[in-house]
Amino acid sequence: MPADRTSTTAHNSPGTALVVGASLAGLMTALTLSRIGVHVTLLERSDDTGRTGAALHVQDGLLERITGLPAGHVPQPLAPGIQTWFAVHGALRAAIAASPLIDLRQNTTVRKVGQDAQSAWVLTSDKQRITADIVIGADGHRSTVRRHIAPEHPDATFAGYVIWIGIAEEPAIGARRWPPDVAFLGDNDNTLLGYPLPGADGSLAPGSRRLGWAWYDSSRNGLLRSTGSVDGSVVRHSLMPSGIPNPTYRELATQARELFPSPWNNAILDSIDRRAVIGTPIAEYVPTRLAQGRAAIVGDAAHVPTPMTGSGFAESLYDAEALADAVAEAGCTAPALIDYEGARLRSARNLVQSGQGFSRSFARRAA
Ligand SMILES: Cc1cc2nc3c(=O)[nH]c(=O)nc-3n(C[C@H](O)[C@H](O)[C@H](O)COP(=O)(O)OP(=O)(O)OC[C@H]3O[C@@H](n4cnc5c(N)ncnc54)[C@H](O)[C@@H]3O)c2cc1C
Repeated sequence: MPADRTSTTAHNSPGTALVVGASLAGLMTALTLSRIGVHVTLLERSDDTGRTGAALHVQDGLLERITGLPAGHVPQPLAPGIQTWFAVHGALRAAIAASPLIDLRQNTTVRKVGQDAQSAWVLTSDKQRITADIVIGADGHRSTVRRHIAPEHPDATFAGYVIWIGIAEEPAIGARRWPPDVAFLGDNDNTLLGYPLPGADGSLAPGSRRLGWAWYDSSRNGLLRSTGSVDGSVVRHSLMPSGIPNPTYRELATQARELFPSPWNNAILDSIDRRAVIGTPIAEYVPTRLAQGRAAIVGDAAHVPTPMTGSGFAESLYDAEALADAVAEAGCTAPALIDYEGARLRSARNLVQSGQGFSRSFARRAA
């Protein structure tokens, strides 16, 4: 088995870290750690990650805050406000590429985590052993690192509904009036969250904008189970466009016409026509711990709230910042990770619990 010790630390460097998962939480964590001098090896199982539809609220000066670079010096600027997952991911990836302290390794799947008094390591599916001072799990709602940290409570739980998400281009929608803001629509059994978005080039000019939509639906749990998307109480995977049966597309189109006003129904119908819809079964996870020795978890690995909270991304940012603050004080050590847990656990628990009231009543209504 090849052994790989991550970059040797400079004399007074805070140390080395392995970050598992290079989606938004992992990218932000790698950047905040590298900003304070940590050498980061970032391990991502896919060659690239993608999620259509999800839209995130971006705080003003986000990249400057994470990287420590002055305004005008970040490689790919990101406007504040509502942005697509892709826009945020692209800007963070550009910042990662520009950082000499971050080594991004794609196509690397972590299978196991281990540690002793001196170091922590991961074992990958291609039988590498990669070692550093600490291991940070940013590996999402089905986290492998969480199994090491909280083996007694490893899984997020299915919340009882799916969210259908998509994005439609303005010319395809033919809207007479463009929605000025985020909209909440629907009846008790179907909630639609709609959000106006800039075009793919960042433009807000009429004619090049987009509408994103997220449709909360608790009436299709049978489909989720028959496709293996949900197994027992565990969410296994999203339904990708080609995995959604044609009869389901047709039913959704009929319902969209009945339930939602223009231009939102047009945006949904356009996404359905293009078969550009993803169904994500929603999971929730209330953490009992965020760290164990030289390993810790951030982002959706640490806390999985319903997207109705609209806060998963912001909380991932706070995790990344709190972790870097703790490491700046105590280096890449177990005590630093205990401090990180102390700073974040209560807030992480509150976040998830704040959404569980919605989830329980929404799932029950249509059960
Ligand atoms: C449908 C939907 C809508 C959402 N809407 C909002 C919203 O409106 N506002 C908001 O703030 N948040 C929202 N969120 C939540 C938000 O997207 C996340 O909280 C945020 O992006 C952080 O995700 P993450 O990086 O922790 O996890 P993920 O995005 O799940 O990324 C985990 C990464 O780890 C990699 N990985 C997993 N296992 C391994 C392994 N063993 N080895 C190597 N790599 C691995 C994966 O490939 C992936 O790249 C939404 C989420 C969903 C599902």
